[in-house]
Amino acid sequence: MDFQLVLDQINAELRPLLGQGGQVARYIPALARVSPAQFGIALRTCDGQTAQAGDSAVPFSIQSVSKVFSLTLAIQALGEALWARIGREPSGSPFNSLVQLETERGIPRNPFINAGAIAVADRLVTLGDGKAELLALLSRLCGEPIHIDAEVAQSEHDTGFRNTALANLMKGFGTLDNDVTTVLDVYFNQCAIRMTCEQLACAAGYLCRDGRHPLAGTPVLSPALARRVNALMLTCGTYDAAGEFAYRIGLPCKSGVGGGIVAVVPDHLTLCVWSPALDPTGNSLLGRQALELFVAKTGLSVF
Ligand code: GLN
Repeated sequence: MDFQLVLDQINAELRPLLGQGGQVARYIPALARVSPAQFGIALRTCDGQTAQAGDSAVPFSIQSVSKVFSLTLAIQALGEALWARIGREPSGSPFNSLVQLETERGIPRNPFINAGAIAVADRLVTLGDGKAELLALLSRLCGEPIHIDAEVAQSEHDTGFRNTALANLMKGFGTLDNDVTTVLDVYFNQCAIRMTCEQLACAAGYLCRDGRHPLAGTPVLSPALARRVNALMLTCGTYDAAGEFAYRIGLPCKSGVGGGIVAVVPDHLTLCVWSPALDPTGNSLLGRQALELFVAKTGLSVF
């Protein structure tokens, strides 16, 4: 299949729609000033073929896409024990909701909503520094140094009132083992990592290759754990739009409020799309359309 042609077509079809709908994330100035008129798409196949179009080399704030990689580190180290105090069910609620945490006695529904990712960050703090391991993993996976945007990290700290509330609620229920401030520091910094579509398509490559490193071929996760991360992405990776994503796209996906979405076609390729304007569920509006077009044009889907 000529993937470069497919990505060029998608870019040509969607570019005229830029700026026509959705809103960039506004909760911090560094994201509010990102131009909505950007669209990038990149993919990397299991055998190392790459294709890219549009703003695929522009770095953006990966935000909640980082939750895939923090989960990878935690599950790599802890295996099934990770699930002792973190659930694996879709939430059907917004990503920053506090409601279920109260009714479910401090156990977050899954590792991809904010509460769940904060609980994962807590396990990373128990295991080490958290931030350093995450940056090292990402740099290894894409073969290039990866950095945190200091301004975004500071703003996440300054405005993270809901995340602080989630962490305190979990601490009160005994879900977090470590100091709330230390755990939140890891979470805020992981949200502030900057990467391009090309880097993310490469970094998430182990998810389409039974857990094997996209460049070196060495195991990042066992095949069974890689399948499980994909299953969680399909059911929980796009928050309360996960059902709609599964229905329309049918691929494991993880989105972030920076406008990025990583999608996996198991045994074939990993794809990353980015466009900063979001729909009301916090998922990239054009990113979502791009994935729908990709599946329609290629027939590649898990279903
Ligand atoms: N920094 C954002 C938050 O913590 C990340 C959310 C997201 O990307 N969905 O709310």
